[in-house]
Amino acid sequence: MARTTCPGCGLELESPETGLDERFNASYACRHLCDELSCFTLNQADAEFTHQLTVDAYCAQHAGPNVKPISIAFSLIGLYLVCERGYTGRQVQLAHMALAKQSKQWPRFNPPPMTGTMTVLDVLTGINGENYRKRIRDWAWSVWKAWKDFHLPVAELANRY
Ligand SMILES: [Zn+2]
Repeated sequence: MARTTCPGCGLELESPETGLDERFNASYACRHLCDELSCFTLNQADAEFTHQLTVDAYCAQHAGPNVKPISIAFSLIGLYLVCERGYTGRQVQLAHMALAKQSKQWPRFNPPPMTGTMTVLDVLTGINGENYRKRIRDWAWSVWKAWKDFHLPVAELANRY
């Protein structure tokens, strides 16, 4: 076991795998935590589909050179719709489906040096039953705030479609 630092969120975790999952700009140990949270959110009978916020917060927090521009753009648009427009995860999912039909080159957003004060580990350790929606929304907010220099272009992009 060795400690690896996740390049996306900065989490330092013990892991047998010291390499990085380049596609997600994340350590494998961090990816495992994301899988754990995803399993949890997907297993909730959740009309709001809060799972979508998990996907978008994680992706925007782990934006990196090998992450596809469309993934980063969609995740930021998702965070914008949730944080600034009050969308639920379900509404964001529908917006993403509508966006995906637009054949377009998506701009590349390069991440700020710090991508949020909360990590997937903070969300997981704080969950006790019904509070998971708030934990995940707080996480989404912290990531969205970290991208503050891009709020305007992301809003313009979202509103154009
Ligand atoms: Zn991470």
